[in-house]
Amino acid sequence: MIYLDYQATTPLAPEARDAMMRWLDGPDGMGFGNPHSPHRLGRQAAAAVDLARERVAALFPPGGKVYFTGSATEALNTVMRGCEPVRAGAGIAVSGIEHAAVWDTARALANPFHELAVDAEGLVHPEPEIADGVGLVAVMQVNNEIGTIQPVAQIATAAKAAGALFVCDAVQAAGRIPIAHADAIAISAHKLHGPKGIGALWLRDGVEVAPLITGGGQEGGLRSGTLSPALCAGFGVAAKLANDRMQADADHIETLWARALELFEGWTLNGSDDARWHGNLNLRRDGLDVARLMSDVRNVAFSAGSACASGSGKPSRVLQAIGLNDKHVKNSIRLGFGRYTGMDDLEEAAAAINAAASAQGI
Ligand code: PLP
Repeated sequence: MIYLDYQATTPLAPEARDAMMRWLDGPDGMGFGNPHSPHRLGRQAAAAVDLARERVAALFPPGGKVYFTGSATEALNTVMRGCEPVRAGAGIAVSGIEHAAVWDTARALANPFHELAVDAEGLVHPEPEIADGVGLVAVMQVNNEIGTIQPVAQIATAAKAAGALFVCDAVQAAGRIPIAHADAIAISAHKLHGPKGIGALWLRDGVEVAPLITGGGQEGGLRSGTLSPALCAGFGVAAKLANDRMQADADHIETLWARALELFEGWTLNGSDDARWHGNLNLRRDGLDVARLMSDVRNVAFSAGSACASGSGKPSRVLQAIGLNDKHVKNSIRLGFGRYTGMDDLEEAAAAINAAASAQGI
């Protein structure tokens, strides 16, 4: 199986797995301590959580604090539902290409909703018009479907000038490019070669958020529930590795990207080619029957639109937002590659996809 779906999830780094095992079954079967217990087993586990927190914090800008959550979705819900402006009834403005974790949350709230337009390249305007009464602006750093890199530094400035809190979904940026400044930032371990089931919310110092999940208040009073030292340790090692290898990983991806453009000559790229994370190739070909392509090319894991959207059978909201008509949306596939993708994997996958597309007579 060739894995080309790096936006859906990434392979667990062996180093992260090794770090997790210590807190699952070692040493002497005594690695299971509750990090919130005062005895020695608990304190050992707490030290592992502290180290992981430092490593994850190193991905973020200075001047804030990391809170572990169960996912980026939970982190985004926590800040979007719990921040002061939203609780006071202020408006919410989000870009038309946000992940469902932001989009559906904004839609589910009773606050006035505003959509920030994106252009045909898949980019939000760096100085978006922010309507009066908006208290929260959310724009992602890297889009999960088309990989476009948003001008979030400028948008953060515009949000600040409008007196709004700026929330950034940096799930697809974290570990790949430096995370930009915001008031609140969400990331997810499994998108950077860490385990599933853990994310992080970073809050700039001074940003007040009410808890979404109440109970023991284990995460600085903001989030309750016993932390998993294994998940934290795996996340920490994955974050450190991503930070240490950021340039090497990016170089590898540039090499794959350059070759991919040759291999998929004749296909049309959806979204900007330069303001883009190059591990994301979202392509279309007129007349392509994507469902048939996927069933013909079973040894390659790739996606039609985003993993979440493709399960629902609904056309991709992101591809529609950049102006693609329904036919073009349905003719699109997403290939995602990264650290562990070999050139031979990419070449073999491209040969299989191109052969299956040709068999459709296109
Ligand atoms: N935001 C983006 C851009 C994503 O790609 C994803 C995952 O698909 C999420 C948020 C949600 O992350 P998690 O799986 O940690 O809830």
